[in-house]
Amino acid sequence: MNTQDTKLLQEAIELSKRCPPSKTAFSVGAIIITEDGKKFTWYSRETWPIEHAEEVAIQKAQEAWASLVHAILYSSLEPCSERASKEKTCSQLIIELGFKKCVFAVLEDTRFVADCRGKENMENAWIEVIHLELESS
Ligand SMILES: [Zn+2]
Repeated sequence: MNTQDTKLLQEAIELSKRCPPSKTAFSVGAIIITEDGKKFTWYSRETWPIEHAEEVAIQKAQEAWASLVHAILYSSLEPCSERASKEKTCSQLIIELGFKKCVFAVLEDTRFVADCRGKENMENAWIEVIHLELESS
């Protein structure tokens, strides 16, 4: 953990507060920093409802032809390990695309997902995972 991690995670949490409210899904803010310093951000329901913030931030980076190898993901919530509506989960995408590090603030709780293994899955794939509890004041 370093000051950049704290600063960018705080920024992801601020983004998550801009999400339109929903009773059925978390509000998540996500920021990607690529190895060459490009930045991509997204928050839940910024434009459409069912996408996950991490996933859309990844899509935006890919559309810009940014390499995600050794990129860092900051997310206000633990990336998911199970999804009903999509083929791939966010933690799977993070692993497959070669991210080197994932920093998140809140562990997925049991409200929507019984047993989230996002952190575990990424750690098993040798990604540095930092769970940083920050005050969301
Ligand atoms: Zn997800």
